[in-house]
Amino acid sequence: MHADPQYIILLGPPASGKGTQAIKLQQALELPHVASGDLFRYNLKHDTELVLRAKGYMNRGELVPDDVSIRMVMARLSQPDCEGGALLDGFPRTIAQAEALEAALAEEEAQVNLVLNIVVPDDVLVERVTGLRLCRECGASYHIKFLQPQEAGICDKCGGELYQRPDDTEETVRTRITVYWEQTSPLVSYYRQQGVLVDIDGDQPVGKVTEALKAEVATL
Ligand code: AMP
Repeated sequence: MHADPQYIILLGPPASGKGTQAIKLQQALELPHVASGDLFRYNLKHDTELVLRAKGYMNRGELVPDDVSIRMVMARLSQPDCEGGALLDGFPRTIAQAEALEAALAEEEAQVNLVLNIVVPDDVLVERVTGLRLCRECGASYHIKFLQPQEAGICDKCGGELYQRPDDTEETVRTRITVYWEQTSPLVSYYRQQGVLVDIDGDQPVGKVTEALKAEVATL
């Protein structure tokens, strides 16, 4: 455990590679990967009251209301494995969420240490999303064109079944990108002003992006 907890945020539009990169970074950082989208999807399976409110928003590609998202992520961050901090992916997505996070961390005398802003042009995002496939067992991600598994539909790492997320249709993706520009992109200037944000070119091979991210993390 770190003496000072470390909170690192992966920021970027849908399909900028946050999830893929988080899995790679998590090993190097020894921080738990806290992905709000994964938390929602996990909770959806268990039909908790919290997530019943979220389902319609998610399926339309809209943001779940702040109070629901904040409650869910804060509950996760208060678990013992997050005592040393976390690698946040998909949260915060609005200024209100960022302020709630800041207030909660301040109570622990902690703060956001680094925001890695993954930059990818919109047209690249749509192609990426519609071809994305995920492993049901371990969460590893593949692409039908750019990152094919050795055997179609099967995870190379654990043999699990690959699936397409229900919110990964072209129509939903376009909504999610619009939502990103309207509600999430203001976080770029918010964190830039705080001096904790770095831009990372996300339109390059996965390994190159990982290298760039690791180089920034090493400066902490
Ligand atoms: P993701 O897996 O991060 O792309 O998230 C999938 C969906 O979950 C989003 O399109 C939203 O509907 C919802 N979601 C995830 N994280 C948040 C958040 N921080 N605030 C609001 N909605 C969220």
